[in-house]
Amino acid sequence: MALAEDGVIGKDEAVLRVEPRALSELLHHQVDPRGARDVFAHGIAASPGAATGKLVFTSDAAQASAARGEPCILVRRETAPEDIRGMHSAAAVLTERGGMTSHAAVIARGLGLPCVVGASDMRLDTRDRKLTAHDGRVFREGDVVTLDGSKGEALAGAADMLPPALDDAFKLLLSWADQFRDIGIRANADTPADAATARRFEAQGIGLCRTEHMFFDEDRLVVMREMIFADTPGDRAAALARLLPMQRDDFVQLFEIMQGLPVCIRLFDPPLHEFLPHDREGLRELAEALDRPLSEVTRRAEALREVNPMLGMRGVRLGVVLPEIYDMQAQAIFEATLESARRGAPVVPEVMIPLVSARREVEMVKARIDGVAALVRTKAKADFDYKLGVMVETPRAALRAGEIAQHAGFLSFGTNDLTQMTYGLSRDDAGRFMNTYVQLGVFPEDPFQFLDVDGVGELLLMGAERGRATRPDLTLSVCGEHGGNPESIDFCRRAGFDYVSCSPYRVPMARLAAAHLALRDRVGDS
Ligand code: PEP
Ligand code: MG
Repeated sequence: MALAEDGVIGKDEAVLRVEPRALSELLHHQVDPRGARDVFAHGIAASPGAATGKLVFTSDAAQASAARGEPCILVRRETAPEDIRGMHSAAAVLTERGGMTSHAAVIARGLGLPCVVGASDMRLDTRDRKLTAHDGRVFREGDVVTLDGSKGEALAGAADMLPPALDDAFKLLLSWADQFRDIGIRANADTPADAATARRFEAQGIGLCRTEHMFFDEDRLVVMREMIFADTPGDRAAALARLLPMQRDDFVQLFEIMQGLPVCIRLFDPPLHEFLPHDREGLRELAEALDRPLSEVTRRAEALREVNPMLGMRGVRLGVVLPEIYDMQAQAIFEATLESARRGAPVVPEVMIPLVSARREVEMVKARIDGVAALVRTKAKADFDYKLGVMVETPRAALRAGEIAQHAGFLSFGTNDLTQMTYGLSRDDAGRFMNTYVQLGVFPEDPFQFLDVDGVGELLLMGAERGRATRPDLTLSVCGEHGGNPESIDFCRRAGFDYVSCSPYRVPMARLAAAHLALRDRVGDS
């Protein structure tokens, strides 16, 4: 940067001299490479940066540790949505299972937390709150360790650290990068805090807001559970009516932070049982809160369990079978849109339907959402615009993109689920054999980390081409974890995509990588 400012090299040369992946080292604490490394577990480097803290084995312990002001490293077999508050309280997260797009990995990248997943060379004993390393060493709750999410390693003790280096030169370099790049970069952001990070890193909008993450606050979870356990449509409507103002407030906040930049909101996606407690103690508390017999609550929770929940009653399937949930979300989005306009930050929200596999699903959900929009307009005597789009996460949606695009203004490829379904490979269990597969050369890379251009990529190209054949102005994007990856950005750019969307902390790398690609093409052309 100094050379460019002195006029010795051009801005383009300065931009090209910085390796995009090196930027993530500037954003986070790193283990000092000159210090000693006492590694006791290896896994997948799921979210960069490093942190030192005391070991804890439950989310409650992580929260207690944060309340005492003590940094902690949360260790779990794998994380579930109910661990989110524990993850917020931890300095870093280590899981025994999982892959690059499992729950812990996705959430940690969103929070900017160092994370290692799939550390299957350690043995975890959650009951006795200890873990045994492959060399036989035992680590217990309270022991100090360092997690290196950039290298995928857990180290005994407190390692020497290097601080982040986010200075003016960093910001200036990225502003130069923006002058050269020709593909949009948005951020995946679920909360006002994520949105603020997205703004700080100058994302051009939110490409994916996973709304289900808004329901895990304690007070909301209770209402959510009442909604799930409602006996009649009337009871369900009553619970949803209590969730409505909370959702509306979420969106008002997001719109306000994003100040008119586009915000793409994905309607509710996960299976409902993710919101229910998994142990007896939790079920007992729930029965008390709902004032129902434990036996009934247990039976109803059991009835919601599925053999293959990721392929079950989730995404748009919930929207079709229990349409009141999407109705509530649409109403909250539209009322927030009007509120933002009143506050002087008008926005055109983008509403996105997840896990679509058939045109008719889109048609049905679209009809209801249009209906909700009409009601909100009439009631408020005010107008607003919105866009409706589809998340392409199943191979069938990519194959049928031509007819799906009849009802969709944009298609956003969810390459996490699309990779899972194209390979028939669980994103939550891949960690167990992925290292072996890559070592043996069965797969050249972990396809959850590097977009599989041959297979999944072909579906992307097919979906893009068929979608645009129906609707030439169709907006195309990728919002899976691959979105922040320089190689995937290259692929999307060549395929004529409008933008990619990635975790906020990956936005700087994505902006720089996109500039490199445009500049290299320019050099290639001349
Ligand atoms: C995806 O499947 O690529 C996606 C972005 O959605 P999620 O990770 O929430 O399933
Ligand atoms: Mg998905």
